[in-house]
Amino acid sequence: MAEVMDTVAPPTVLTIAGSDPSGGAGIQADLATIAAFGCHGAAAITALTVQDTRNVHGFRVTPDDELRQQVATVLTDIPVAAVKVGMLGSADNARAVADLLAEYPEIPAVVDPVLVAQGGGDLAQADLAKVLQGTLFPRATVLTPNEHEAHALTGGETVPEAVADELLREGAHYVLLKGGHRHPEEEVVSDRLFSFGQEEASFSHPRLPDRGYHGSGCTLSTAIACALADGREVVESVRTGIDFTFRALRAAYTPGHGQAVPNRL
Ligand code: PLP
Repeated sequence: MAEVMDTVAPPTVLTIAGSDPSGGAGIQADLATIAAFGCHGAAAITALTVQDTRNVHGFRVTPDDELRQQVATVLTDIPVAAVKVGMLGSADNARAVADLLAEYPEIPAVVDPVLVAQGGGDLAQADLAKVLQGTLFPRATVLTPNEHEAHALTGGETVPEAVADELLREGAHYVLLKGGHRHPEEEVVSDRLFSFGQEEASFSHPRLPDRGYHGSGCTLSTAIACALADGREVVESVRTGIDFTFRALRAAYTPGHGQAVPNRL
């Protein structure tokens, strides 16, 4: 009989997100990222999307009672070291996840408030944006909206400091405002991390050519969750996540006829 190796379980990162059958974003992106960090990936599926690397063609949301069972079953069995929340799809799913995570206040949670795909297709029912604020934001260790989501969540606010203040007032502990779509004429991209009342850190990297990347937000939020699962502090985790995502985007490939996908391999 072959000898077995006594392998210590790596930290578990639970992603709660939608399926992207093209493999660029969503659960598929998250599991690839979690594997790249050497963590164990657990995954609860909030929605089945139909999409290719160009755009989203539709989605069907998991009923909230089924999502609740998926998440509760994993949390009861496995000591989860960090959670990433991505596409939720519906207000009911946001409430279900917020209720469950409230029972585990010690688990850090990175919340990517996914509303719309890069290609412009909707990834949320109309009532989700309003409900996110009262439910999941208070549970977010780090909230990672892109510029579009930040506008949608703050009634059109554009000044970064005001956006951050409003989202922090809703209960998020840290807000990372991603700079990829801001000032496209500038050579350097700056992502800014805010906590209540102050800017904690700013992270800069050279601008990459715009290849309409698919799955960059998913990769970043999950990479931050992996670093938190490894026990790193928030600022260090955000730096680690941004560095990983930058390297993945620099080495991105185009698997189909549409957008480029971060190389998380
Ligand atoms: N989650 C799912 C399931 C998706 O399909 C997408 C995009 O298509 C996203 C999240 C957001 O992707 P991105 O990382 O490009 O913002």
